[in-house]
Amino acid sequence: MTEDVRNVVIIGTGPAGYTAAIYAARANLKPVVFAGAQPGGQLTITTEVENFPGFPHGVMGPELMDKFREQSVRFGTEIHWEIVTSVDLSNGRPFTVTTSERTMKAATVIVATGASARLLGLPRENEFMGHGLSACATCDGFFFRGKEIIVVGGGDSAMEEANFLTRFASKVTLVHRREEFRASKIMLDRARANPKITFLLNREPVAYEGNPEAGGLTGLRVRNTKTGELEVVEAKGCFLAIGHVPNTGLLGGQLETDEKGYLKTVPGSSRTKIPGVFACGDVQDSYYRQAVTAAGSGCMAAIDAERFLEAEGH
Ligand code: NAP
Repeated sequence: MTEDVRNVVIIGTGPAGYTAAIYAARANLKPVVFAGAQPGGQLTITTEVENFPGFPHGVMGPELMDKFREQSVRFGTEIHWEIVTSVDLSNGRPFTVTTSERTMKAATVIVATGASARLLGLPRENEFMGHGLSACATCDGFFFRGKEIIVVGGGDSAMEEANFLTRFASKVTLVHRREEFRASKIMLDRARANPKITFLLNREPVAYEGNPEAGGLTGLRVRNTKTGELEVVEAKGCFLAIGHVPNTGLLGGQLETDEKGYLKTVPGSSRTKIPGVFACGDVQDSYYRQAVTAAGSGCMAAIDAERFLEAEGH
């Protein structure tokens, strides 16, 4: 009996995964896509996207991702709404992709698993999520109308989220562990000029205050990095904007990563060190992290996979 081996298995459904699917499907490769834990990816938790070319008046993130999905399906993409739990790349090809529902053999694999918000790793963090703690201002800001809010971080995301949250909050305290900022000058200046934002610098978060089961978060305990002094910043909401981590757990360390944990690809391509395995989107890009660059790299991955299969006489 011959083994059923799929040409291209794509893991992830952000702009990278869906664009790879559109290209692979149009190349008649009948790609299979696993949607993952957050179908549609990070754009599904944003509001309006104003910088995606082709939408002069903007488009809502979830709507944009729905259009990506529809376009991929139009050309014959097979989507499974499942989470890939592991990928075995160790025994050469075909590779094995496993979900809770099935095991599938793949001639090529495109990893487009994206990145997720970084958390602080403090006690009871998961319990406080949704009870005053959030890593998505656009998703949860609305719940804090008229309340005091904390934003943690000193990059562009923290400035953007702090500004955005002043639409709802009575006061936003921006807690940052240093005096220097990674944020660009324009974003920092905008936050500094906002009368609702107060900066609390050289403060490192050490604990969440309150009870996730009754009343939720009441504040954030911070340590002054200069004096060591502890204090509690009172707030009903705390938003983490401390960067992202690439979603590589399912690979179990089989692919090479850089010092930040992002997948390494051969420069100018989507090829990883393992022939037949390609990576695209935020899982291999800590620098640009844009929907349009992710889509572009998804296109590269599909073309790389197609040429790889062609060279093999597929
Ligand atoms: P980022 O630039 O890496 O900044 C992360 C911030 O979180 C840093 O200030 C960092 O502090 C702090 N941080 C990290 N771990 C921490 C911890 N455990 N405890 C306390 N603080 C911690 O990440 P980002 O702001 O998400 O931005 C990522 C990329 O997206 C950047 O290239 C940015 O320019 C871009 N971006 C652009 C826009 C825009 O232009 N509209 C908006 C958002 C993001 P340290 O500085 O001390 O390390």
